[in-house]
Amino acid sequence: MQGFGTTIFAEMTALAVRTGAINLGQGFPDTDGPPAMLEAAVEAIRGGANQYPPGPGVPELREAIAAQRRERYGLSYDPATEVLVTVGATEGIAASLLALAGPGDEVIVFEPYYDSYAAMIALAGAVRRPVTLRPAEGRFTFDPDELRAAVGPRTRLILVNSPHNPTGTVFTRAELETIAALCREHGLVAITDEVYEYLTFDDAEHIPLATLPGMRERTVVLSSSGKSFSATGWKVGWVTAPAPYVRAVQTVKQFLTYTAAAPYQRAVAYALRHELPWVEGLRKSLETKRDRLITGLEAAGFTTYRPQGTYFVQADIRPLGFTDGAELARALPERAGVVAVPSQVFYDHTEAGRPFVRFAFCKRDPVIDEAVERLRGLA
Ligand SMILES: *Cc1c(COP(=O)(O)O)cnc(C)c1O
Repeated sequence: MQGFGTTIFAEMTALAVRTGAINLGQGFPDTDGPPAMLEAAVEAIRGGANQYPPGPGVPELREAIAAQRRERYGLSYDPATEVLVTVGATEGIAASLLALAGPGDEVIVFEPYYDSYAAMIALAGAVRRPVTLRPAEGRFTFDPDELRAAVGPRTRLILVNSPHNPTGTVFTRAELETIAALCREHGLVAITDEVYEYLTFDDAEHIPLATLPGMRERTVVLSSSGKSFSATGWKVGWVTAPAPYVRAVQTVKQFLTYTAAAPYQRAVAYALRHELPWVEGLRKSLETKRDRLITGLEAAGFTTYRPQGTYFVQADIRPLGFTDGAELARALPERAGVVAVPSQVFYDHTEAGRPFVRFAFCKRDPVIDEAVERLRGLA
């Protein structure tokens, strides 16, 4: 793990705490999830759900997950053998990469990538093959030829995060079809990180890769309650996949953590059944917050890319006369009292990410307004 150091989120959050700057770096909401869900966790604790739950997750949650996949996407999974509850999507990423990639295997990732992908590919002894998402017509996307060229004889897996952190891209059906065709042709397994599945804007629609022809049988889906229900500290995620994959992932998962926290699993089961209207409210409010932050960043001199999903905006710093996002992000707390995350840490080809910093907009309106006000001084 030499070379991985401290995650950028921990580093930037510590910087925010030390300088008293507004933290638009780490993507956590500053308001709570649905009150009845919080109450369900309290009740579960008071009601004695405080010992080890079953390794694969409490049955009521696995059933609620299977119902959600079926009702929202028409995907059917057996809650007994095809659903596994994990300690956040982070453990889903770890356990599926350790289970499905071995020494020398190649894993395709789109860069900028979520930082735990690189770390877990390394821990699996595998090799990452980044394919760069570049701005084109106002959004970040990949070149299909570059993607095809990344597939070789050692390629085993492709990691697909849509809606995508940090670019906010929601892959279109055509883009997903390009990915699916490669998977079918070369026998690749897809791992899809869908933690922002509910957080899409305008007319963007989240399409799970597993719904494309021939893909359910070769896709391991990772989800989380953290982003959907504004409970990132609960760390309840899940894997849905064909039984042999779930068995493999569970074999690893049982020795990582054995099981996820019992009372939160109960509460998330409740939320999946009863609080989806609350999530729709969150989605709408985030859409407004996105516009609020973008308007402010543009007024401060940044060029922004309007995200179709997630709660992040990529901002190009060059119009302000800066060239290096890492340098600017480290100086920004002192200079402007705001924390952002430099995008280049999510790239192998750091050059491609150098001019971008990521701002999070999952914050209360006055916090966004104050941050934007402070950034106005930069120009
Ligand atoms: C937040 C995030 C995760 C981690 O999810 P947890 O459930 O908090 O572990 C995984 N992938 C992406 C893209 C994320 O933004």
